[in-house]
Amino acid sequence: MPMRRTDVKLTRLRIGHTRFTHRHLLLGEDAPECPSCNVSYTVHHILIDCPVFNHHRITFFHKSVLTLSDLVGESPHQNLFAFMKKIGFLYLI
Ligand SMILES: [Zn+2]
Repeated sequence: MPMRRTDVKLTRLRIGHTRFTHRHLLLGEDAPECPSCNVSYTVHHILIDCPVFNHHRITFFHKSVLTLSDLVGESPHQNLFAFMKKIGFLYLI
C-alpha cells in the first residue's frame, strides 16, 4: 500500500475516527453495533476489546491483551495492516 494511504489510515486509527465508525453521523443513522458484544463499534473495540477477533490477535500479534499504543503508537505494529485486512476492517477505515 502506498505510504500516504498508510499514513492516512494510521491517523484515522489514532484519532479513532474512521469511515466505518463515523459514517452513520453523516447519514443520520444509528451507530453500528458489534452483534457479539452489543456495544457501538469503536476503533478501540475493534482493535483491542472485541473477543471475536482474539484468535486473529494471537495470530498476528502473539498476544490477545494489547493497547492502542502497541498497535498504532509511534512505531505501528508491523502486522497491524495484515490483521486489519484479515478481520475485514482495512478498507473500511
Ligand atoms: Zn465485539
